Amino acid sequence: MNEGVSFFAVEFKTPFGIIRGKVQVSEGPMRLVDLVSTALEFTDILVKRAIDKEEKEGRKIYCGPGCGVCCNQMVPLSPPEAIWISELVDHLEKSGWKELSQKFDRIAEKLEQLGMVGELLDPDFSDDVALEIAKKYFQLSIPCPFLVDNSCRIYPYRPVACREYNVTSPPEFCRDPYSNQVNKVPMPLPLSAPLARLTAKLTGTKPRLIPLVLTRKWYFDNKELVYRKWEGTELLRGFLKELGGVNEDN
Ligand code: SF4
Repeated sequence: MNEGVSFFAVEFKTPFGIIRGKVQVSEGPMRLVDLVSTALEFTDILVKRAIDKEEKEGRKIYCGPGCGVCCNQMVPLSPPEAIWISELVDHLEKSGWKELSQKFDRIAEKLEQLGMVGELLDPDFSDDVALEIAKKYFQLSIPCPFLVDNSCRIYPYRPVACREYNVTSPPEFCRDPYSNQVNKVPMPLPLSAPLARLTAKLTGTKPRLIPLVLTRKWYFDNKELVYRKWEGTELLRGFLKELGGVNEDN
């Protein structure tokens, strides 16, 4: 046993079989954002299994690092991912990516002028309304700030929703996913949902998702939550419980 570190033996059932593994967590206070790397790891495992199944059944997957056809759709993030993306912007600017935060600011300004910020950040909207808002947003043709030369510049760090978006229909169909029949690879356990549910439980609010382009605005409006800390083992246990199943193993 390592001092100051706990291991959780994780086991949860999915339609693609049981996933087992060990997750390491440092004992001591942790922020919500510290759960994101674990969520991305699980997402990649699930996506790989989902894609393997499609390919075994003879369907080709068209998505990959060089394709950004779908990247002007609304990308919904859980609060921990919104923190992750916002802090990634700071990190990328320190590493030399100029004017990235200005791109986010310009999009937020445009949405403000159109009177859409309130509805896009409304924590109370239902799934029905969410689809209408997503369609309305899509009509604006706003490319993701991370899209450069039609390619994702943060591909290894992209959020859960982008990892889970894989299609077996021709990529050009994604130019207008609301008019064309886009065949998405089904993902039975979208990982943003347990992160959003856990945040809601910890803060006594409803589960909510935040559009990627408004993460910077949301981040600066929610500094208390961004920097709030919980006992690490409790936080991870809560997340794994939301996923459905955990055994502790120190
Ligand atoms: S983060 Fe990357 S994959 Fe996701 S919408 Fe933006 S450019 Fe596309």
